[in-house]
Amino acid sequence: MGRLTPSATRAKIIGMPHTSRDTVGRRELLGGAIAGGVALLNDTVLAQNNPAAQVLDTAASVKITAMRTHRVQHKVYVELETSAKVTGWGEVSALVPTAAEELTKALFELLEGENPTRIEYLWQKLYRAHRDIRGGPFMCHTLSGIDMALWDITGKLWGVPVYRLLGGPTRDKVRIYPSAKSHKAPPGDVYEHAVNPPDVDKMVRMIKSARDMVGPDGAVMFDAHCAVPPAALLQFAAAIKAYDVLFIEEVAVPGNIEAFKRLKEQIKIPLATGERDHTIWEFLPYLTERAIDVLQPDVAHCGGITQMHKIAMLAEAYNVPLAPHCTTSPLGATASLSVAAAIPNLLIHETAPGAIEWGERFMNLPWVADRKLGWGSLPQGPGLGVEIDRQKMAEVAADPKYKWKWPQMRLKDGSIADY
Ligand SMILES: [Mg+2]
Repeated sequence: MGRLTPSATRAKIIGMPHTSRDTVGRRELLGGAIAGGVALLNDTVLAQNNPAAQVLDTAASVKITAMRTHRVQHKVYVELETSAKVTGWGEVSALVPTAAEELTKALFELLEGENPTRIEYLWQKLYRAHRDIRGGPFMCHTLSGIDMALWDITGKLWGVPVYRLLGGPTRDKVRIYPSAKSHKAPPGDVYEHAVNPPDVDKMVRMIKSARDMVGPDGAVMFDAHCAVPPAALLQFAAAIKAYDVLFIEEVAVPGNIEAFKRLKEQIKIPLATGERDHTIWEFLPYLTERAIDVLQPDVAHCGGITQMHKIAMLAEAYNVPLAPHCTTSPLGATASLSVAAAIPNLLIHETAPGAIEWGERFMNLPWVADRKLGWGSLPQGPGLGVEIDRQKMAEVAADPKYKWKWPQMRLKDGSIADY
């Protein structure tokens, strides 16, 4: 009697026709014992008592049917429609809005007819579609907005908040800033390499007043914003030792690992960065080079919920906490809080009250910010839990007050400054 070949076994178990003459011949020769064994295995795989067979995947046949983009001043909102009449929303932020809108629209060609719940697959499909724009800010910010919409749809289809899809909540509430207990001082200016004592004093005074404001048990942070040259940072960091600063943010431009390493050796206050970095591949060198103490991915910049969650996992392996950067409206902020709610390594989460209030003109905020004590509640789903009022959104979009302009920073001698 012929033995059942592995390929024939596999074909039978998954119910595929197998046309090889040799295999057909063997199949005809199958004795009762072997055939019975395969049938038993087959039955076991498909049986009602197999837990996998009992999962009703209500999203398996859902398709993406349409995309609408809404340019609202400096932002683009992505609206993805599905055959299940479930709509997902995402926020594309911090790009030239006209270009962002066109790129978003162009990417729909890769999404149409796809199952929106295959988020990782679709992320890869979009990210790897064009080898020459892969990984850059235009691709990653746009992909972030689309990724948020996919998670929103998936949460809505299964009737759960997005953080439930990320492994469930790791905390009951999220520590946020700014609040009466947490304040991040800005650099206050762009500074020359030949910084002088009054400039350093100005920054130190901001730290002192922040500490006075939040009290001894509050959190004081400083955002150097790439606007403070290394020599000035060293003087400044030495002068603020007494104020117990949680971290100094963006001491150097993104990706300048050598500058981060050099400053980390000389500054004894934790350093943070990440708001302008994209994907796990740009975050990894900070970790492997031991160049950073706190990572600050922005969910709307780094590649969406999908990437922010992976960045948190990378950071966890290096015992580095996240302090997510977040200057988005309620939609993007909720996407970020959803990740923060589900990761183990969260330090503190930024929120931008101005951007939240701006967005609340046409959408709800599905979580509560306690600005007195510095806590945010977990977002209420399903999905991201944000509903957009299209009429009000159109009114805000038409408001000329917030017309997008190119930022420009200059030093006193007229040269161009980073900021
Ligand atoms: Mg910053």
